[in-house]
Amino acid sequence: MSDLLERLRGRGWRLTSQRRVVAEVLDGDHVHLTADEVHARAARRLPEISRATVYNALGELVALGEVAEVSTDGRAKRYDPNAHHPHQHLVCSGCGLIRDVRPDGDPLAVLPAAERFGFAVSAVEITYRGLCPACARPGPPAAPSNDVRAPG
Ligand SMILES: [Zn+2]
Ligand SMILES: [Zn+2]
Repeated sequence: MSDLLERLRGRGWRLTSQRRVVAEVLDGDHVHLTADEVHARAARRLPEISRATVYNALGELVALGEVAEVSTDGRAKRYDPNAHHPHQHLVCSGCGLIRDVRPDGDPLAVLPAAERFGFAVSAVEITYRGLCPACARPGPPAAPSNDVRAPG
């Protein structure tokens, strides 16, 4: 688990019942939900939670640095609770499944000085693309899904 709730408690983030539900929905490994998905899941637990509350909470979590915004498909931003563990993403071009991955070595160090154009480079985002095992298998394609699946 990403221990998002524990980290937020440690940061003194005011945990109202609504904010707690947002944090609970986001907690976990390989979690990359759009704001609308966070809202839909939060509303299953707390039907009165508004979209604005969810968006505000997500904005605060990103500002705190406890949740990262990722855009792996060039469309909706996704929210990733593993901001405290630098990682890259492996994305299935078939069904959209996203996995957190950690390449060997420091991906920042891979860029040679001659390719930095004088930039003080501070961050890197790498997206590896391909087909997940379910989509690579012959037969009907896997149902499009960005649902979190059990690791393994
Ligand atoms: Zn797939
Ligand atoms: Zn991630």
